[in-house]
Amino acid sequence: MKFTWVGGRPSVDFTATVGKRRLDEEFERLPGPKDLARWFREAKLSTVAVSRRDYTQALELREALYRLFTGTTLRPDLELVNRWSARPLPGPKLTATLKLEYPRTDADGVLSLLARDAVDLLAGPLAGRIRTCASDDCSLLFVDESRAGRRRWCSMNTCGARSKMKQYRTSMD
Ligand SMILES: [Zn+2]
Repeated sequence: MKFTWVGGRPSVDFTATVGKRRLDEEFERLPGPKDLARWFREAKLSTVAVSRRDYTQALELREALYRLFTGTTLRPDLELVNRWSARPLPGPKLTATLKLEYPRTDADGVLSLLARDAVDLLAGPLAGRIRTCASDDCSLLFVDESRAGRRRWCSMNTCGARSKMKQYRTSMD
């Protein structure tokens, strides 16, 4: 199954590993530990193997992040995210081309990175810019970094284009 990378932040993209959350058609893009290992790899966060325990913890963290990003602040979720975020971890590095590079780490380390990313996002200037895609059959979250702050779609190539097409068809009727 393909992963989506429209969130603008690793922690937001992580929540996109459940598809169509607002509908009854919700589906899991990470059916097992191997899929999570692939997500870590494709997110360029780690190339480690993932155990059953790592997997369970990751999904727990993912759902806590999703609730926080969508405005539900439950104490157990805050505690979970804070616990992961507080773990000591080698910091990110700059490559020769001034790109961000995360240190090599185990699965626990990746969850800590994701939690820290979320803490940074939720306590930072873009906290009010975490949005759900406006398309009815999409539930992806994204960080709206546009200047005007009026971005509605997870991506102009998919949901944005579909909406334009719909408007065009309606205007032709
Ligand atoms: Zn969308």
